[in-house]
Amino acid sequence: MEDVFIGLGSNLGNRRENLRYALTELKKQGIQIAKVSAVYETEPWGVKEQPPFLNLVLQCKTVLKPLELLRCLKEIERTVGRKETFRWGPRVIDLDILYYGKSIINEPELVVPHPHLKQRAFVLKPLSDIAPDFKDPVTGLSVAEMLDSVSTDGVIKTEEGL
Ligand code: AMP
Repeated sequence: MEDVFIGLGSNLGNRRENLRYALTELKKQGIQIAKVSAVYETEPWGVKEQPPFLNLVLQCKTVLKPLELLRCLKEIERTVGRKETFRWGPRVIDLDILYYGKSIINEPELVVPHPHLKQRAFVLKPLSDIAPDFKDPVTGLSVAEMLDSVSTDGVIKTEEGL
């Protein structure tokens, strides 16, 4: 089974609950959770006029092929989103495939390694908690090395784990 890294983020509703709910759903789909990073509170990226995110990264094992995994993540996004939609609107959880083992994938609906990973401290920081020595299959750079080249301002480790 491949080692897969998944990034999770939530900035609407009960953010920690949304992340926990997504984790429960991943397990229900037979995805084994090997490691869970700390939870980070991060300033929004891109569009600034929105609430801060909670972010974390998981190391998982799965028999699902990459596109099957993507479909599974999209379904979980819908499930978790539906729960909160009534009160908070549609976008409460984001699930991204960061790495799928050492695979390099360039499909219309799936690009792995995740294309924005290298610039995003809110992904690299939690990823470095659980896999600092993992090497990007495209660049050969380790997670720790990539983290060294971004600013981690605005990415704050929260006291409470998941
Ligand atoms: P967003 O809602 O901005 O996270 O974008 C989600 C879309 O990005 C999905 O519909 C996917 O088809 C596409 N996508 C491309 N590469 C990835 C990836 N590595 N992980 C998750 N979604 C991806």
